Amino acid sequence: MASATEGDKQSSAKRVAVVGAGVSGLAAAYKLKSHGFDVTVLEAEGRAGGKLRSVSYNGLIWDEGANTMTESEIEVQTLLDNLGLREKQQFPISQNKRYVARNGLPVLIPTNPIELIKTNLLSTKSKFQILLEPFLWKKKRVSDDHTQESVGGFFQRHFGKEVVDYLIDPFVAGTSAGDPESLSMPHSFPELWNIEKRYGSVISGAIQSKLFSRKDKSGETRGSVEKGKRRRGSFSFQGGMQTLTDTLCKQLGKHELKLNSKVLSLSYSHGGNSKSDSWSVLCVANDDKHSQSSSVDAIILTAPLCSIKEMKITKRGTIFPLDFLPEVTYMPLSVLITSFKKESVQRPLEGFGVLVPSKEQENGLKTLGTLFSSMMFPDRAPSDQYLYTTFVGGSRNKELAKASMNELKQIVTSDIRQLLGAEGEPTFVNHYYWSKAFPLYGHNYDSVIEAIEKMEKNLPGLFYAGNHRGGLSVGKAIASGCKAADLVISYLESSSDTRRFRKDHNFRNS
Ligand SMILES: Cc1cc2nc3c(=O)[nH]c(=O)nc-3n(C[C@H](O)[C@H](O)[C@H](O)COP(=O)(O)OP(=O)(O)OC[C@H]3O[C@@H](n4cnc5c(N)ncnc54)[C@H](O)[C@@H]3O)c2cc1C
Repeated sequence: MASATEGDKQSSAKRVAVVGAGVSGLAAAYKLKSHGFDVTVLEAEGRAGGKLRSVSYNGLIWDEGANTMTESEIEVQTLLDNLGLREKQQFPISQNKRYVARNGLPVLIPTNPIELIKTNLLSTKSKFQILLEPFLWKKKRVSDDHTQESVGGFFQRHFGKEVVDYLIDPFVAGTSAGDPESLSMPHSFPELWNIEKRYGSVISGAIQSKLFSRKDKSGETRGSVEKGKRRRGSFSFQGGMQTLTDTLCKQLGKHELKLNSKVLSLSYSHGGNSKSDSWSVLCVANDDKHSQSSSVDAIILTAPLCSIKEMKITKRGTIFPLDFLPEVTYMPLSVLITSFKKESVQRPLEGFGVLVPSKEQENGLKTLGTLFSSMMFPDRAPSDQYLYTTFVGGSRNKELAKASMNELKQIVTSDIRQLLGAEGEPTFVNHYYWSKAFPLYGHNYDSVIEAIEKMEKNLPGLFYAGNHRGGLSVGKAIASGCKAADLVISYLESSSDTRRFRKDHNFRNS
């Protein structure tokens, strides 16, 4: 039972509502709770995790959403340390072995200049274009400056069309379900966009900025250098990616996470008195029968913008129309899980997976790519089986994403047969359809970011986080959630009550 002092602290704690229990919302809530705030996460669905969704069935473990993540962001490193998740981190076997289909067959992606010279993935002309990019890259025409350059246009200027077709196209399809022409370069690859601005050449710029960051690191403390020595690359967790969000949920506790609570309306009614509640949040259960209202001092929204647009927001009794939020385009995607007896697979490949360029549709391949799930993580399938995770749809094939499980099974089986020599029918099939897997960072994405900023500016105490801002990856979504939590903390710190309350707390996060 809480002591009287504990009880007093609880009642004086500032209250924050986090809308959405995806990884960004949960990371934000965890940070706020660690800093002594009274936090409630409201989630529309009957489960937490959002796009992190792991399933364990009959000796198989698979992910229907994100399969791996990286920890380039400091917020991710801190979160994993604080959650004690290091022991559960799983690094894929041979993760540098990644393949791209060419002429209907998987070809290893070169990872160093020697492999690049030897590879049959690219023509000699493209190889020269890559190696000589520091001298040959072309500037963007000034007359094009007013439009946002596409990912395809950018990489074509630096490396030529074949590199776009066989490296960039499959990569963006595999990481965003988009295509090089529809994606905006400054929003999809901001680091490379800035490298070009600073250095011109992408290759020499990347090398120089790496050298600089190494120099910077050499001045850091021993502890942080040790952290820097951590294994690089992609990883998952024992039990799949949902282990991360499940762990976050456990830290939060049941009363702080409200499932089946779809937020319908938000009302801002701050009257100038710092002790009064600023926001009221109305949510409804899945059955639409029970609605609940709560008062909070600040809000972090992490629901997709299409859901935010449906909410009713009032500011001091007047409707605050959200019609300035542009329509975001979303990519539909189907995820097919299949397993095959090992003896049925004639050419199994060790490594991460194989990506399929759009051009390879000419060679009969219809999927976006397949992850070699049990090659990466052998504990994901019984020892006599291979487990595969295949993606279908995206901007390349929106209609196919919606196809029936039977049709998709035929398509996936045919691609895996062609690429890996898997004979016969899979021993197991599972299908999950995401109607809005990824927001498309398209050419109008500046207007989306501007609208989010306008919403935050006009609604004090409301902050927006998640994968619609700053990057699509799990790591970027976590970073976005943590940054929003920091903004809430500084916003609420302006109240002296909070400062007095927080003095008594042990802060776990920096
Ligand atoms: C198939 C697939 C594969 C992927 N693979 C990878 C990968 O390998 N590596 C990687 O880094 N990233 C990957 N991603 C991307 C990554 O998973 C997501 O970008 C990230 O998880 C998004 O987290 P989020 O918290 O921003 O949003 P979400 O996970 O979408 O969470 C938003 C939450 O808000 C809830 N919500 C919506 N409306 C309301 C409302 N009105 N009230 C209350 N709650 C509401 C939703 O139900 C949801 O739970 C993948 C995504 C998909 C779909």
